Amino acid sequence: MENCLFCKIIDGEIDSDIVYEDEQVIAFKDINPQAPTHILIVPKKHISTLLDLDEEDNELIGHIYQVANELAQREGIAEDGFRVVSNCKEAGGQTVFHIHYHLLGGRDLQWPPG
Ligand code: IMP
Repeated sequence: MENCLFCKIIDGEIDSDIVYEDEQVIAFKDINPQAPTHILIVPKKHISTLLDLDEEDNELIGHIYQVANELAQREGIAEDGFRVVSNCKEAGGQTVFHIHYHLLGGRDLQWPPG
């Protein structure tokens, strides 16, 4: 998708600190981390918002959670606990319109979020 920041990262047009990649997803460090571990897990398929998910994406979303699991263990945050969150549209806090899952951990996270 033209002019999509995360598509450009996926295509290697914009540099990022990639921590995981496979055929379906890429994961890289958030440029403005909100916790000691803050990784974005992003499907390579361009999907603008969670509202644009189809049933055919169910396996992809399940896979994203498996990757989150693996990365949490690799980052050493699995034992204490962590958060996986995806923001939807402006009021939900979404700023990049290519769906992504924030993996946050390494500190005691507050609830509810702001
Ligand atoms: P959202 O606000 O939930 O859409 O999350 C977008 C995230 O992308 C924010 O946490 C930003 O800090 C992060 N971000 C924006 N640009 C870049 C970048 O170039 N590299 C890595 N993360 C980015």
